[in-house]
Amino acid sequence: MHKVQSYTKSLIFSGFFALNIGFITSVSTAWADNHTPLEIVATFSVPADLVERVAGEHGNVTSLTPRGAEAHDWELTPSNFMALEDADIVFYNGFNLEQWMSQVRATLSEDVPLVELAAQADYPTLPIITGDYEGETDPHMWMDPRAAVAYVNVIAESLAEKQPAHADAFHQRAEDTVNALYALHQELTELLGTIPDNQRLLITSEAAFSYFADAYGFTHNGIWGTNSETEGTPSQVMRVIDLVNTRQPKALFWESTISDRHVTAIARDTQVEIAGPLYVDSLSSDEGPAADYFALMRHNARLLRDTLGGIQE
Ligand SMILES: [Zn+2]
Repeated sequence: MHKVQSYTKSLIFSGFFALNIGFITSVSTAWADNHTPLEIVATFSVPADLVERVAGEHGNVTSLTPRGAEAHDWELTPSNFMALEDADIVFYNGFNLEQWMSQVRATLSEDVPLVELAAQADYPTLPIITGDYEGETDPHMWMDPRAAVAYVNVIAESLAEKQPAHADAFHQRAEDTVNALYALHQELTELLGTIPDNQRLLITSEAAFSYFADAYGFTHNGIWGTNSETEGTPSQVMRVIDLVNTRQPKALFWESTISDRHVTAIARDTQVEIAGPLYVDSLSSDEGPAADYFALMRHNARLLRDTLGGIQE
């Protein structure tokens, strides 16, 4: 009897102790999950813009790569390290776009969620069409607004999981953004639809427009496959000179984050005009033509329409 009593006592005691610990843990978790704004890090300006739209006033978003810089090759700066140390959650594009993710992983503490947007997005992937990485998954999915929708859905889910108290706000802002992205897709379809069929050839430095070309009915090629590889080798240049001579496109296009010297050399050699810049791997400055995702997509579409013989409004 005595034994039973003391056993019961110890059960009650340990139960009380466990309850106490549970209470303390849930209070500290609740504090961590509700503090506003969340410190959010994105690897470059394009995903940072999409994350900002969903986070609203509940997030403070920092882009590791500054606008105008190349997102494929980047080296973390002292301020990047500080941002990663403070981060509650980190978003990156993935599919090997950011060649420097091992540095990010090494810096982050293990409990900080690291969200790979393109890999988690529910959207069909396309392969890289040329170069050293030909056949691997092309990371530039956001160039189709419907894929950007899939990014936004992943962002909303991830933020809601991180901070359940504001889940409704994240989902509401995501829904507004998704509606705007579908409207953008419709607008671009009409705008680009005026380009004659025989002019729908989009040749750039980096072959980063496969998703865009697939969405809007272009044939696409680039001097190299992605900016992660050597740019402008003689064989890459010769291949595109052959292509230009065969297909006779109206223009070649250059992009904002890389030198236009290879495109310029090919254009000179083949007597085709050049146009640009197109924006892909970075937004422009606030004063530039691609200050946010929507402006980037509209700027590219108008430049293509105006250069390739589409009908201007
Ligand atoms: Zn790229």
